[in-house]
Amino acid sequence: MVGHLQALIRLRTVNPPGDEILAARYLADVLSAAGLAPVVLEPYPGRGNVVARLRGDGTGGGPLLLLTHLDVVPADPELWTHDPFSGDIADGYVYGRGAVDMKGMAALELQVVLGLAREATAAGLDPARDPIPGLRRDVIFAGTADEEAGGYQGIAWIVDHEPGLLQADACLTEAGGVSVEVGGRRFYPIQAAEKGFHRFEITVRGKAGHASIPRADNALVVAGRVLDRLGTQPPMRATPLMARAIKAVQVALPGGPSGASAIDPQTRRAIGALLRDTISPTIIHAGIRDNVIPGSASIIIDCRILPGTTEASMETDLRERIGEDLWRACEVVTTQFGAPLEQPLPHPLFDLCAETLRRHDPDAVPIAVMAPFATDAKHTARLGIPTYGFSPLRLEPDEPFLERFHGDDERVGLDALRFGLPVLDEVVRRYCG
Ligand SMILES: [Zn+2]
Repeated sequence: MVGHLQALIRLRTVNPPGDEILAARYLADVLSAAGLAPVVLEPYPGRGNVVARLRGDGTGGGPLLLLTHLDVVPADPELWTHDPFSGDIADGYVYGRGAVDMKGMAALELQVVLGLAREATAAGLDPARDPIPGLRRDVIFAGTADEEAGGYQGIAWIVDHEPGLLQADACLTEAGGVSVEVGGRRFYPIQAAEKGFHRFEITVRGKAGHASIPRADNALVVAGRVLDRLGTQPPMRATPLMARAIKAVQVALPGGPSGASAIDPQTRRAIGALLRDTISPTIIHAGIRDNVIPGSASIIIDCRILPGTTEASMETDLRERIGEDLWRACEVVTTQFGAPLEQPLPHPLFDLCAETLRRHDPDAVPIAVMAPFATDAKHTARLGIPTYGFSPLRLEPDEPFLERFHGDDERVGLDALRFGLPVLDEVVRRYCG
């Protein structure tokens, strides 16, 4: 499994441009060698996807989809101690872009699938056609392109054009089931919801002029005022899921609710983002010359919205914050919108994930949580597939997992993977058996 992870890290599937076809072909070769019949889809040049199916006898229900994305975000080698595409192993870690997001999970899922295929072969069966001994549901493995840019050239295309390849009763993908230690307790947040996103482009129009004669409608000055009004975050609102998650943490902490002071600042900030709609200005463009007052300025605002917030209500909130006086000077356009998601709970697959974690780590406190970001679950939602973030890893107590995502020196511990593989394997076999 570690060899496959290293190989995947060495294939540069940086999005943009993606080139996920490199990883899709690699996985297809490995799956074919195990006797499976993977399908490679390349709907756009270089944007490769791979799907393989292991058959159950069909008596247990619809398939389980094991989903992973094959693309990674860019990495600046100058800021790394190991080359981000080396897959180096050092100090008990596999280093490389994608080690946690999410080629590590790809390797875990692949290994589970290969194990099942191997057992079929050992029993004299053809794993590409025959039901796998012990499986009552199909298991679908899918490695897809473009998640880091919204999945539109990857899983979204498959959902639109080949939905039968992915249709399943439930799905596991990133990003949960990873241990977080707080106040001496080991929590395993399992992703069962995710925030949506609502991006706006605000164009402020003024009148251009010579910088020697100031104007009150200088677009850059007005844009500054708009930004100032967007500097405070909306009020807190705990969704029922997050209220339950907080309660569960409080109950589990040795000091009860006061033990929450043990939560580190980074985690505290992440929790804060999960308890409100958030507003982050990300880009401003204005001006062409030192001595010209700009006639227009454009601002990009990235809002992340809770379940319960709609496209219309977020725009109303923005308008109230900016105020009618400034709103009149602005053209506001929604450039991207992705709805928030809440997965069904309770759900047998979720319960199985929690129970399996407890069996493999008696100190585990699994909790259902929301992710502050969007994943490809927004696309499986279009097929009505309950999707949980579960890429099980047991980390060292002080490991800053959230910083690893898209961070420098991204790496995953060999011990963490050693813990995760049997957990995932057991969840798949029990849900499908
Ligand atoms: Zn990811």
